[in-house]
Order: sequence, then structure tokens, then C-alpha cells
Amino acid sequence: MAELALRVGCRSVQGLRPNNEDSFVADSDHRFFLVADGMGGQESGERASGMAAEIIPRVVSERLAAHDEATQAVRRALAAANEAIVQAGQSMPQGRRMGTTAVLAVQQAGKVYVAGLGDSRAYLIRGHRVEQLTVDHSVAQALVSSGAMTPEEARTSPWQHVLHKFLGCAERSEGADVRPFTPQAGDRLLLGSDGLTNHVFDDDLREAGKHDDPQQWAEALVELALKRGSRDNVTCVIVAFDEVDVADGRPPEPDMEKTVW
Ligand code: CA
Repeated sequence: MAELALRVGCRSVQGLRPNNEDSFVADSDHRFFLVADGMGGQESGERASGMAAEIIPRVVSERLAAHDEATQAVRRALAAANEAIVQAGQSMPQGRRMGTTAVLAVQQAGKVYVAGLGDSRAYLIRGHRVEQLTVDHSVAQALVSSGAMTPEEARTSPWQHVLHKFLGCAERSEGADVRPFTPQAGDRLLLGSDGLTNHVFDDDLREAGKHDDPQQWAEALVELALKRGSRDNVTCVIVAFDEVDVADGRPPEPDMEKTVW
């Protein structure tokens, strides 16, 4: 089966914050995509998300080249970024240490592997179906999962912004969940920071069909989050999977060995 063609859209804005602590990677050549939302204030958050955006794609690519299985490559890359960010944070005073979320997707051998730590999210939009592929690692989400809080209560809970898993977290003992899916023509994959996902909902994502160009859609969604009052940095990466267009392609070159004269 021919590999699907990719088109990518991406947009990241500072919004009302004094700096942009979000970072993203949109690398169609290596079929690697990431959004990271830094924490720690001042330059720390920016530095942490920048480290995630540099280390994770590099280590994934090294591990895949060394024939690691994709899930393992992703886990190792997240562990390497975690360690580097913990170490970099050790020079900072207590209480000013840095961290970052990371959500990423990498395509390998016909499958897309998605993983996240923190509360940046990945969504798969397939026709009218919108599926959140990642789980928020916020205390509020953990309370919802245990039945102690309703999703409606979680939305306004102060625990919504307290993360129990992220990169730069020295106590992180278990690896990230890596979720593979097989992309289909027409699929849209969205990675977003909470500045976007707190203000853009499933019904908005169902509008995917109205926006053929992923760049134009990424810009429209970021605009929508700002219009609805997002005061945070807002970052969005959209990957569109499409059938390879052979209509305007040339016919295949004749294979001389098989040509009968
Ligand atoms: Ca944020």
C-alpha cells in the first residue's frame, strides 16, 4: 500500500503572556511532530520546551536508525529529554525549577505513534469522529478517572493546572503511554497546547472538513481560542493525511527488462 501524503499546518502565538513558552516541531520529511508547553516562569519554561523540541526528535531518529522498535524509541527519547531537563533545572533555585509538557507523533512503517506527558493533547479527527488520543496528566483528570470529580467540575477546578507527570519531573517513575494508530486518507491529527485545547472543543474539531488547507485551519483554530479569551500561549500543529494524487503524475517508466520488443 502506498504511503499517504502529508500536509502540515502550524501556528504558535504568544497571546497575552510576556513570552512564548510553547515550542513545536513540524518535520514532514521525518514525519515527526511535537508540541511542548514549558513551565517555570521567566526563561525557564521557554528553555525547557526548547530542549524537548531539540532532544526528542533527535533521539527518536537515532533510536529508529539503530532499529529500535518505534514505541521503545519514543519512550527512550522522552526519558532522555526528562533527564536533561531535570539536570538543567538543578542549577536553578528550589521552587524555580523548570519543566515542560510534550505531545508527539511520529510515523514509522505505516503507523503513527502518539505519546504525551503533561496536558498538551493529541486529537484524531476522522470524518465526524473526534478522538482525544492522549490523557491529561493533571490532578483534576486523575480525580475524574477515579470518580471523585465530574468532567464539568474538572474544567473549572484549580487542580486542572497541576500536573503530576511532565518532563523535568525527577520523580517520574513510569514511562509514557505510546499509542499507535493506522492513518487513513482524510484523517487530521491535531497536537495542541492547553492554551488551545481549553478553548476549542470537539464540535469545533468536527469542522475539519470545511478547511482543506491544514495551515489555514491551524490559523483559524488559534484565532478562535484567542477570540474565546485564551490568555495563554496558543500552539497548534495539524497533520493532514491524504491519498497520493496520481492523477497528474506521469505514467511509470517502462521497466526495460520486462519490455517485450
Ligand atoms: Ca500553556
